[in-house]
Amino acid sequence: MSAKNEPHMSASQISMALRCGEQYRRRYLMGEKLRPSGAMARGSAAHKAWEINDIQKIKTRQDLSAADVDGVFVEDFRRRVKDEDIHFDRDEPKKEVEQSGRAIVKAYHLEVQPTIQPAAVEKEFLIPLDGAPPILGYIDLITEDGTIVDRKTSGKKKSQPEDDWIRQLSLYAYAESLTRGLAPWESIPTRVDLIVSKNKPENVSIPVGELTQAAARPVLALAAKLYEAAVKDALLPNPNGWHCSEKFCGYWATCKYRKGA
Ligand code: SF4
Repeated sequence: MSAKNEPHMSASQISMALRCGEQYRRRYLMGEKLRPSGAMARGSAAHKAWEINDIQKIKTRQDLSAADVDGVFVEDFRRRVKDEDIHFDRDEPKKEVEQSGRAIVKAYHLEVQPTIQPAAVEKEFLIPLDGAPPILGYIDLITEDGTIVDRKTSGKKKSQPEDDWIRQLSLYAYAESLTRGLAPWESIPTRVDLIVSKNKPENVSIPVGELTQAAARPVLALAAKLYEAAVKDALLPNPNGWHCSEKFCGYWATCKYRKGA
């Protein structure tokens, strides 16, 4: 059975539990899955297009043509729309999401992928935790020089790594450090390639740091603690912040803790 189907924690679960315990409870304890959004479908299909390019480039050392990569995106996006009951916002209908996705795939493929020689793509790892299921993750890309790269798509430009990116890449570097048999003081370079979706998409490379195993230790302790609190139903709702809104929380309509309920 795939590790995805076994009980596990993940970097995104940790972020959700920290953002709002009620979101985490409904998603992971009650199993209330939400319809994926158009932005999620766009991001997943874009990752698939870049991944297919990178998988073959490990052997060929050549990028696919822009038309081939565009074709992977369109096929994957339309399959998700057909199979996954995607929820599109009124202000960003399906056609616009597909068009903006094609533009970001092209921008990253033409401007950034030629500068990358991949060594591994979508590399799975499991980190055991004390008293909690293991942390499961997939590293988007490891370059030939050993850098760990995570690709993110966003509607907003950012110039600094966010806290959840740092936690996520700390876990990636920890797992990769163990795989490579590095000493605790040896570090691995990490970065986020942010592809900003706007009229003219923009690529921004944001270093997250040279990370040693030590960077992940507080994250591992936090993950175990959050899991312990979750199973005791002790995580707290957090209606304070941008995430507590109809647009950003799928449980908003039925949540008794939401802002103004
Ligand atoms: S509506 Fe607000 S309080 Fe309720 S789950 Fe969503 S983010 Fe949390």
